[in-house]
Amino acid sequence: MLLSLLCLSLAASPILGPWPSAFPAKALCSNCGLCKSSVGVSSVADACAFLGDGMSRLEKLEPAVHGRGREYEQGDLAEAHFGVHESIKLAAGVGIEGAQWTGVATGVALELLESGAVDAAVVASSSGEAFGGPEPLLCRSGEEILRGRRVKPSLCPSLAVLDEVAADPAITRLLFTGVGCAVQALRAMNGGDPEKALGLEKGGLLVLGTHCVDNSPSPEAARRFVASIPGVGEERAADVTAYEFMADFRVHARVKVEGGGEETVKQAYMTLPPSVGIPSIAPSCFSCFDYTNGLADLVVGYMGAPFEGGKDEMQRAPLMVTVRNERGRGMLDAAVRGGKVRILQEGGRGGAALPSSGSRAAITMKTVAADSMVKSLLDPGFVAGDRGAPAWLGNILAAIIARGLPKGLEFARFSIDYHYLRNRLYVEKEMRGRTGGGERHVPEFAKAIMHRYEEDMAGLRGRGVG
Ligand code: SF4
Ligand code: SF4
Repeated sequence: MLLSLLCLSLAASPILGPWPSAFPAKALCSNCGLCKSSVGVSSVADACAFLGDGMSRLEKLEPAVHGRGREYEQGDLAEAHFGVHESIKLAAGVGIEGAQWTGVATGVALELLESGAVDAAVVASSSGEAFGGPEPLLCRSGEEILRGRRVKPSLCPSLAVLDEVAADPAITRLLFTGVGCAVQALRAMNGGDPEKALGLEKGGLLVLGTHCVDNSPSPEAARRFVASIPGVGEERAADVTAYEFMADFRVHARVKVEGGGEETVKQAYMTLPPSVGIPSIAPSCFSCFDYTNGLADLVVGYMGAPFEGGKDEMQRAPLMVTVRNERGRGMLDAAVRGGKVRILQEGGRGGAALPSSGSRAAITMKTVAADSMVKSLLDPGFVAGDRGAPAWLGNILAAIIARGLPKGLEFARFSIDYHYLRNRLYVEKEMRGRTGGGERHVPEFAKAIMHRYEEDMAGLRGRGVG
């Protein structure tokens, strides 16, 4: 009896040891923060996105969260790709200075807090240095919400603040903003009843998600990556305020310039040294099948929005907003009524009315086969080169490839397909020794998406994976 009480009290102690070795998911831990809170750590076995059923747990939770599960079949994979939803729209933030894009997510969070719809909001803040460690922040003022502006390109323990939430009786309605793996763990904790564990009222948890893919394991890894971008280098790495992989096959980095302001450095993907690619991505993110954040009420991202090129795309481009349920609709409506977000285009179910052109059919498998991680899985002797293509050549290649890339929502489908295929090969290898192996971890909707590539994937596996 004494022993079991001791075990219980140990189970409820937050994990303070070194990351990731002290954490239950070990190398695959995404540092979501659940294990860093007393209120969350006891749920880890049934809530962690990288243990047991792993990512496939998310589709089992969808009916409880959204009122129904994903509806899809071959030929109509809209919800397989984008998750349960009422509609997909294009939107822009209004009057939000200093965001990475136009500030839609910041605008929604600001409105909900300032209008009193929630008592507090959890955002990923920054420690202040360039790419400074993202830090979860429990915000009670608009000023604090603004500290969450801009994408932080490395893992953030967002759920580590859950003890603060649970300890404050004044918080009965909470907005949580975060990436898919953290949202999964939050929704699954306490047997699927996080509101009770956190002392929130019924229906008092609102979740604003972002699209997320290929996050860096640490701020240092992100910094090493930006330092490898030609035109940025070691000397300007600390001045980079944001970067993204864009649909023109180039990485765009916003860099501070002397005298104030910023400029955008754009370099073709192939100018980056292949050797920085793999260490720049966390093992959790090579094991992720929740690009579109399936358990959030409302999701903001850029991958399916039209990309027109030109100057400062990040600050002008529309954002893709997925409304999953009634709560998400209410959150977006509030931000529009409050003048912080503007709807640019209604897309309907599957974003059917939004811009979408080209075909991902041919380019997807080519991208998978050319990927450094895939090559290293196929060939254990593969060594990624430490020099990228010269800028002139990279620019020519990027221009040619970009012309053949799909656009708009079809680009989003291409990006999802490519990442899931790559990640499937990764988990087949890395989860081989587990009960159920990688198969158990991969959600059915992801398998439905990958069905069309089975023959090509068998060809790749025949070259050495598995
Ligand atoms: Fe814990 Fe989250 Fe890491 Fe899983 S991913 S081990 S829940 S911190
Ligand atoms: Fe989490 Fe997936 Fe984002 Fe990695 S890519 S931080 S695992 S949601």
